[in-house]
Amino acid sequence: MNLGSYLSRSSTFWPDQEALVCEEQRWSYRELEDSTNRLASALLVRGVQPGQAVATFAGNCGQLVETEMALCKGGFLRVPINSRLAAEEVEHILDYAAVQVLFTDTAHAEVARRAVARAGADCLVVDYDNTVEGVTHYSDLLAEGTASEPVAVDVSEDDPAVLNFTSGSTGKLKAAVQTQGNRLANMRKLLMTPGGGPSTAERYLAAGPITHATGMGLLASLSRGSTVVVLPKWDAELFLRTVEAERITTTFLVPTMLNMVLAHPSLAGHDLSSLTSVRVGGAPVSPQRLRQAVEAFGPVLMQGYGLGETTSGITVLTAEDVAAGITSDPDLLMSCGRPVFDTEVRVVDDSGKPVPAGSLGEIVARGPDCVRAYWKEPELSAETFRDGWVHTGDIGYLRADGYLFIVDRKKDMIISGGFNIYCSEVEAVLYEHPAVAEACVVGVPDVQWGEAVKAVVVRRESAALSEGELIEFCAERLARIKKPRSVDFVDELPVNRNGKTDRRAVRDPYWAGAIRK
Ligand code: AMP
Repeated sequence: MNLGSYLSRSSTFWPDQEALVCEEQRWSYRELEDSTNRLASALLVRGVQPGQAVATFAGNCGQLVETEMALCKGGFLRVPINSRLAAEEVEHILDYAAVQVLFTDTAHAEVARRAVARAGADCLVVDYDNTVEGVTHYSDLLAEGTASEPVAVDVSEDDPAVLNFTSGSTGKLKAAVQTQGNRLANMRKLLMTPGGGPSTAERYLAAGPITHATGMGLLASLSRGSTVVVLPKWDAELFLRTVEAERITTTFLVPTMLNMVLAHPSLAGHDLSSLTSVRVGGAPVSPQRLRQAVEAFGPVLMQGYGLGETTSGITVLTAEDVAAGITSDPDLLMSCGRPVFDTEVRVVDDSGKPVPAGSLGEIVARGPDCVRAYWKEPELSAETFRDGWVHTGDIGYLRADGYLFIVDRKKDMIISGGFNIYCSEVEAVLYEHPAVAEACVVGVPDVQWGEAVKAVVVRRESAALSEGELIEFCAERLARIKKPRSVDFVDELPVNRNGKTDRRAVRDPYWAGAIRK
């Protein structure tokens, strides 16, 4: 079976079940089957060939989900473009991937149009909101297709299915290529989620941008008759209201979003009792935040670790693990858990040899959903995908019982006086302080030590906290060398396009004029 035919089963099994909700719009599985068949066939009628690139550049909406499903059915190459990108970056992607169709919305149409003009591309622009003049309206395109028969297109395991452009926070835009086989394997993996995969009882809230990773989660849910609720934009209050009103059972948050929800003044005023699984991941989560989240949501927290190159999570700290961390094994709250179904994780030295349990090394992963190449980047591909293993660039260790601990990204590690200091360890201590809402630790130039530890902190609303007090607090809990030498208080931390704290943007201003090795 391919992804498209797998998704079509849902309308046969659960035709009247609610499939998709976004603001006032609701789709049953029957309706979703109808519209996604129309869209896939309309694209084929327009001459777009299976395997050719179709991009989406829009804010969250139900039509984005329809498009993702239709692209599976037509065997098209999906290119999700982060909706915060500028015209110049979009232009680069259009050109790089030879995009044939660009789906956008009214809010992004101007940037989309400029990008198409700059790329000089012969690219069909489609407006989901049906309002922008001079481009194709989504409803008109749907009307060109036929709803009756599911579109059956032959695809093979190795055909590229998605170009997953990384956030760009590390410099040059590059795209991990997920094949059709990777995506199917990933869907199987998500169905084996510890604690239970999606089912007809699941009501999944897509809270962050429907980028590729959460997009994969949506497909697994839509293949099992779940209801997917899409948050049109990120807002902590809207999140809380939606969980309550839609009786949400499952959701995924990056740590920055979790911090906002936990700090929200109306948190206690909402009924969140429907939640059975809250997944957090994409960046380190401090033990303190995990404990607070369990207090707020109940024992339903899971923490996962993964990267674009592994399609989704490769390790998971289950709700049971989190409970054990709170009651008996506090170290567990610093762990990202154990490898998920069908995935191998190792920690290796520079020559690629596994190191003994407890020793630090680079984390590598292997599995049927792990990517094997970047798009048109042979050198970069050879560096990252070696001997069938994805080299993550993260440093960590495995405990003898299989739990993985990430200590830092290779390039984020601070070297002070020849001593390695891991930002996440210092951040975990900062988060223990009740007056700290957000924290980011970076290395700054230091004449004596090469680099010194700097904490950049957002205080909780109306909390009084001085630099001296916070350094003293850390000094009681960390080796002298690891405690921050200075603290800067800011109103907010910069976030990258995926909503994660952008450490480079925090660090760079301190290095203006200096060279970081
Ligand atoms: P991206 O590919 O942009 O999603 O970023 C992946 C990177 O985020 C990983 O290589 C890790 O450095 C970091 N990351 C993801 N999940 C976690 C986690 N649970 N704990 C710590 N770091 C994480």
